[in-house]
Amino acid sequence: MHNITRVALVGGTHGNELSGIYLLKKWDKTSQFARWPQLELTQTIANPRACEHSVRYMETDLNREFALEDLQNYRLVGYEQLLAKKLNQQFGPRGRSPVELMIDLHNTTSNMGACLMLLRKDAFNIGMAAYVKDRMPEAVIYFQDNLPKERKRFLISVAQQGVTVEVGPQPNSVLQQETLELMETMTAHILDYVVLYNDDKLASLPAGFEAFQYTEDLVLPTDEQGQRLAMVSKRLDRRDFHPVEPGDVIMETFDGVPICWEGDYTAYPLFINEAAYHRSHSAMSMSQRIVLRCADYF
Ligand SMILES: [Zn+2]
Repeated sequence: MHNITRVALVGGTHGNELSGIYLLKKWDKTSQFARWPQLELTQTIANPRACEHSVRYMETDLNREFALEDLQNYRLVGYEQLLAKKLNQQFGPRGRSPVELMIDLHNTTSNMGACLMLLRKDAFNIGMAAYVKDRMPEAVIYFQDNLPKERKRFLISVAQQGVTVEVGPQPNSVLQQETLELMETMTAHILDYVVLYNDDKLASLPAGFEAFQYTEDLVLPTDEQGQRLAMVSKRLDRRDFHPVEPGDVIMETFDGVPICWEGDYTAYPLFINEAAYHRSHSAMSMSQRIVLRCADYF
């Protein structure tokens, strides 16, 4: 088993998602990092300029700038494109990083609760999910290991292992105590888990746990001018991770025509009406409920 010792905690990858930025400040002030003396913890604000302006990004979304070919493309010299190259030097390089785990702290405006987003189904990630879900039953475990390779352009992909803590609903540029507490609890559980994982003391993991698996993204219909023709149905408002059956109404056009879920499976939507995705006209992502057995991975 490969030990996970060098752990990078990152906030402010998106400058208007305040929980991560303030969790790092809070833990710094209260010396919380000393709770995990076994780990080499570092803390970083990924996009300080965006944080200063309280915007998601200055020019382009930093969390989409870490494709290997983009990191190696020196014609890409926008603000976030250069920042990504700097972060890749600091934490990477991608593919040969000394950082064994990166935890990236995010907020969503969607009602996703405390969501642990994972990019792999290996023993380390499965164990983490099981441990977090066991100690924090309200947590949502979300696997997006099946995202196509060209979509895995996240900051966390620079490190050997990376997870995203995504907590909402919280408006952009707002700090809410409850959201901060959820993020703090989940992040602490992750770090506790890493220590147990290294000590090979995971005997008490539950046999299995419920999770959600990414399936697809849904966009709002638009006309030839790119104007929206519909909105998300009020039936889905704030109902992230609630089941949607085939034929259920999920959107409605402005002239009152319902648009139904055309998939052939019970879907569990997430990122419903997420504010940051307004440009792409994203309505929501879809997932399926899965149950994972720890014994299959250990
Ligand atoms: Zn974010």
